[in-house]
Amino acid sequence: MRRIHHVIHGKTVDSERCGPVYNPATGEQTAEVGFASPAQVDEAVASAKDAFAGWRDASLAKRARVLFAFRELLERHKSELATILTNEHGKVFPDALGEVNRGLEVVEFACGIPHLMKGEHAENVSSDVDSYSLRQPLGVVAGITPFNFPAMVPMWMYPIALACGNTFVLKPSEKDPSAANFCAQLLADAGLPEGAFNVIHGDKAAVDRLLHHPDVAAVSFVGSTPIARYIYETGTRAGKRVQALGGAKNHMIVLPDADMELAADAAVSAAYGSAGERCMAISVVVCVGDAADRLLPKMRERIRRLRVGPGLQSGVDMGPLVTREHCARVRGLVDKGVDEGAALIEDGRGAAGPGFFLGPCLFDHVTPQMTIYKEEIFGPVLSTVRASSYDEAMALVHGNPYANGVALFTNDGGAARKFQHEVQVGMVGINVPIPVPMAYFSFGGWKSSLFGDTHVHGREGVHFYTRGKVVTARWPDPRFRGVDLGFPQNR
Ligand code: NAD
Repeated sequence: MRRIHHVIHGKTVDSERCGPVYNPATGEQTAEVGFASPAQVDEAVASAKDAFAGWRDASLAKRARVLFAFRELLERHKSELATILTNEHGKVFPDALGEVNRGLEVVEFACGIPHLMKGEHAENVSSDVDSYSLRQPLGVVAGITPFNFPAMVPMWMYPIALACGNTFVLKPSEKDPSAANFCAQLLADAGLPEGAFNVIHGDKAAVDRLLHHPDVAAVSFVGSTPIARYIYETGTRAGKRVQALGGAKNHMIVLPDADMELAADAAVSAAYGSAGERCMAISVVVCVGDAADRLLPKMRERIRRLRVGPGLQSGVDMGPLVTREHCARVRGLVDKGVDEGAALIEDGRGAAGPGFFLGPCLFDHVTPQMTIYKEEIFGPVLSTVRASSYDEAMALVHGNPYANGVALFTNDGGAARKFQHEVQVGMVGINVPIPVPMAYFSFGGWKSSLFGDTHVHGREGVHFYTRGKVVTARWPDPRFRGVDLGFPQNR
């Protein structure tokens, strides 16, 4: 059986403990991934600490050049990387390529980070005294990432951290670990010094050691809300800077004046793309007034045309779910929706196979009390809630504990403007169902979708991976000799 190893100081390292990796389209185990022991985490952190002194002092241009080279290599090898994603995650190949492209955009942003590392300078803040601000890297930083974007989510983190002069330890999801090793090799080929980027695979044991390690200065996490809360509380208690992005339940409000063709395309794409395993997937459509009666038939036509199958097969729109357990959980939630009285108007439970398949499921007449409304399902299941007014729709959005993404579909500019102003959610779409910000903006939700103060990438990412320092300098001038015990004042 193929073994997937850790990458520590440029070398592959094996573990005694390991876990299975599957191809979700066939249901077969394809590899075993090592689970790092606390001692191996220590080794990875020591390697990153060792590399930090040299990398921190490398010029901004040198660091950017390594990222430019990494960008070129990624571009050249993106089909290979996308194939790895499809084989271990299950998403269809074009979607996997899309994931790599969105990650690439963050790498491209990181190539220009020297511009954002510039401080400010004020001359003569007192007589012959100048002040200037610097932004400096933190040291060793760690990333802990989820299964659903095995290439892109780590790229929200390490290109920015490295460009800012930090060194990195990545703990990717144990469900689809190969993409991290592939990228580690590309970074090495791009000229990144050994130890500046390490990959440790594993589970809670590895994560807990990272959270308590005294040489880890900061932790970026993306995953489910209960774990995000745990990472934030544990990491900050251990004195670390932490940003922890959690789960989601994204609503798409459709007003009666919306373009229903556009709304149907958007809802179906955003609910079933990547089999709904996206933190920005739409999982609830809130139809206002008579919108449901006009929208749902159009959605059903589109859903019936979706082809479900292995992600590498051409013409397939939707692949399997990531694991057998996850597929069983999502099927169980669909059953529960039916038991609790929602109308299952498109039933994907007929999809079968040795792989972990579930077809697209669409519910109508879902109420906020139902389990399928309350829980993050993370599968190809879309709920429709009917609301009598815009205010009722907004109350649903605001009553939800999550606040990652939200969308409004309308042709009324005034309604759209009011919505973007008042909605209490981190990422907002107007006639755009998956409003993922570009790399030069920052990505993150509100409420239970994010613990910490800083969103990822963009300027906020640079702030997260650096800290500020202000220098006040006077070059000796004989006119200012003499002891003065008073508090420093402006002269
Ligand atoms: P997860 O929380 O199960 O796992 C995320 C990471 O945490 C993995 O590396 C995993 O090994 C580790 N982990 C799991 N259990 C742990 C524990 N008890 N202690 C310490 N570490 C632990 O999430 P997942 O199932 O891999 O990913 C899906 C979730 O991620 C969904 O909830 C989704 O909404 C969320 N997500 C959020 C965003 C966002 O930007 N907000 C993006 C992608 C995914």
